[in-house]
Amino acid sequence: MNLVWLRNDLRLEDNPALWHALEQGGPVMVVYCDCEPQDRNHGESRKKIAFRRAHAEDLANKLRQQGIKFQMLEGLNYHTLPSQIQKFWKTHKVTKLYFNENYLLNERLRDQHVINSAKNDQLVVHTYPANYLVPPGSVRKQDGSMYHVFTPYKKKMVSQLLVNPGKSYPVHGKVKIPNHSKLNNETKAIWPVGEQAAFHALQQFTQNGDYDRYRDRPDVAGTSQLSPYLAIGAISAQQCLQFWISLFGSEAIESKWVSELMWRDFYSDLCFEYPKLVKGQPFKRQAVDDWQNNMDYFGAWKAGQTGFPIIDAGMRQMLTTGWMHNRVRMLVASFLTKLCLVDWRMGEKVFMEHLIDGDFASNNGGWQWSSATGCDAAPYFRVFNPWTQSKKFDPEGAYIKKYVPELQSLSAKDIHEPSAQQRMDCDYVQTIFNYKERREMCLSWYKSKKN
Ligand SMILES: Cc1cc2nc3c(=O)[nH]c(=O)nc-3n(C[C@H](O)[C@H](O)[C@H](O)COP(=O)(O)OP(=O)(O)OC[C@H]3O[C@@H](n4cnc5c(N)ncnc54)[C@H](O)[C@@H]3O)c2cc1C
Repeated sequence: MNLVWLRNDLRLEDNPALWHALEQGGPVMVVYCDCEPQDRNHGESRKKIAFRRAHAEDLANKLRQQGIKFQMLEGLNYHTLPSQIQKFWKTHKVTKLYFNENYLLNERLRDQHVINSAKNDQLVVHTYPANYLVPPGSVRKQDGSMYHVFTPYKKKMVSQLLVNPGKSYPVHGKVKIPNHSKLNNETKAIWPVGEQAAFHALQQFTQNGDYDRYRDRPDVAGTSQLSPYLAIGAISAQQCLQFWISLFGSEAIESKWVSELMWRDFYSDLCFEYPKLVKGQPFKRQAVDDWQNNMDYFGAWKAGQTGFPIIDAGMRQMLTTGWMHNRVRMLVASFLTKLCLVDWRMGEKVFMEHLIDGDFASNNGGWQWSSATGCDAAPYFRVFNPWTQSKKFDPEGAYIKKYVPELQSLSAKDIHEPSAQQRMDCDYVQTIFNYKERREMCLSWYKSKKN
């Protein structure tokens, strides 16, 4: 019996563990361990946990329909999981175990534990890289060390991919994947369940999107919105890359969109190389560590009630949908850390608690980038101006109107920075501080820390 252990790779297509197990011949069973207590312990949002569970159930149905046994093991954490899965393979007389690699510290420890038990029980274990463009650890400087700046990391990865763009595993011939037309009324939802839905979203985005032009515009659907699917592995980065190469040739490897996927690899690779990052530590040793943590500012930020419309729109978008546009993530994170002087870890936690695409490495990287504590981060004096950023990236105020409906009646000219009177008329909060004064105060505070 070959056992495939699924984790954050909830798909049939480009799933090397499943593909190799089926290729072996012989019977195959698939197991998925629902680790909700562990996911909660890791601070993941209810939305993400439910999204992942729905994908696991969807996959279970597809596999069972095709005669492949699927078992869901419930309610585990990483301490109880190894013995439960061991009990499972003993009961089912498994001889080979297949799974795709995970790279964060807790997951690596869990997997090592399982590998040790499997070897003790004479199982043959096969593991595969599956969720990144290249496996973490494979893009390194000549001396073998990790890059601390994204651009040279990206250049090295591009040069490697131009020589060997990798491949994605097709759905194995023994498994059928229902075709895309079965999406029907589910398409009404923002992220319909299933890997076909994820692939459909990739196709739609590639056909209709103008990424280079609109990627920074939260008022336009200018980005792929694939992050929830990538976070649970309903689609892989390799599938995305191979699809783009099939349409645009090898130039795709150097496109702006693929370079965003490389940021995802970069942050994962940093966590792989520097386990201190998963222990709440800043990348830079000299980083600020006595944040002011004004709880009134923090509370207003969390609730989308700061009085800065673009910031409030972003936070409310996340609270209602579980997702926030990247440009606005940068603005709200800069606002919390560089203007409210609140510890980036408090913002990082709030994001994880609400995001449907919560991904430890990308979230940690984004927060450390924004707060000037990270590797290749925005410097402390680069503070995004919420007024001018709002005018630039949401010119008509359409994004603000969607998530801050109190301001519906204001013109495109007034909506970004309403007057005190307009706020009262619209029943919208006053600003929690005067932006210019606060910025000066914070810059001096940062400078004093540097000296
Ligand atoms: C403070 C902060 C927190 C973040 N937290 C997360 C998180 O928890 N999960 C997450 O997936 N992304 C996170 N990001 C990165 C980015 O905002 C999202 O990946 C992006 O908004 C997802 O939208 P999309 O799928 O339309 O992206 P697209 O623009 O279509 O990009 C395609 C894919 O590339 C990857 N990607 C794009 N930008 C980045 C980036 N800056 N860093 C890492 N990967 C990127 C994502 O997987 C994304 O789905 C964070 C960014 C910041 C500034």
